[in-house]
Amino acid sequence: MRNSTVWAGLLGVEGTVVERVEFDGEAETLVAHVRPARAATGRCGVCRRRCPGFDQGEGRRRWRALDLGLFRALLEADAPRVACPGHGVVVASVPWARHGARHTVVFDDTVAWMATRTSKSTLEQLLRIAWRTVGAIVTRVVDEGVAARDPLAGLARIGIDEISYKKGHRYITVVVDHDTGRLVWAAPGRDRKTLGAFFAALGETRCAAITHVTADAARWIADEVAAHCPNAIRCADPFHVVAWATDALDEVRRDTWNAARKGGLAAHARDLKHARYAMWKNPENLTDRRRTYQRVAAPEHVIALMAQAEALALPDDGARAVGG
Ligand SMILES: [Zn+2]
Repeated sequence: MRNSTVWAGLLGVEGTVVERVEFDGEAETLVAHVRPARAATGRCGVCRRRCPGFDQGEGRRRWRALDLGLFRALLEADAPRVACPGHGVVVASVPWARHGARHTVVFDDTVAWMATRTSKSTLEQLLRIAWRTVGAIVTRVVDEGVAARDPLAGLARIGIDEISYKKGHRYITVVVDHDTGRLVWAAPGRDRKTLGAFFAALGETRCAAITHVTADAARWIADEVAAHCPNAIRCADPFHVVAWATDALDEVRRDTWNAARKGGLAAHARDLKHARYAMWKNPENLTDRRRTYQRVAAPEHVIALMAQAEALALPDDGARAVGG
């Protein structure tokens, strides 16, 4: 294996020729003089298209690489400029770093990975960089990830909800992809206009590909979904279905209790009064005492609950409950 190949491997760079390496023992620094391999030369730093050369730019530049043992490692290379038909005069792309970056791709990726898994001070000390630099690097890595992977591609089953913050004074509308479990879109506000921006970003074709939308029963969500997603079935999300059923059950129990009391069925009324928690639970999770309450309450409430549930049916056609 040639020396250059070994150094390129150690420095974590590809498409790069390592011309020579210098050590500065006192500064504990290693400087690798590099140049792009032939196929990577003369390309626009933004779009990577091959372009005519423009000038030598501002001479040699340095990029920080991951440390090698206890040594800080730097790459040094020319930074010529090219004239891109699309982007004008820009610094030519280099295979070892992102456009405009002062660190190598591997360094950037390591910072971004660590930022999601470790503390600020650990990251700062281990990689010897300022927190401000971490922010710039993470932004660059995320931008590249977003550009490479469209989060709105391939959506079929989505969930729409709102999250409150500032003690319920402000809201964010969020959209999740049920198939991947990922958050795919979010924006401040909770009204038709806010949600309309999501459907605008999605575009007509991809809106038509949406098959299911879960949400609460909010009218603004229902209207906006109906306006944009002709093929989507709207589903009530399980959280709200359970909340509605619990409320309905409570109402029925209260009415039945009142009726029993007024009808002079004191013992029956007492049983019903204490049956509240029993009715919320599945029979297999009940204690013996509560099981008794549930049996007492059962015949009336089941019938009444059905009537109640009918009255509570979702306001629009096409809405139905699904299991989570
Ligand atoms: Zn370009």
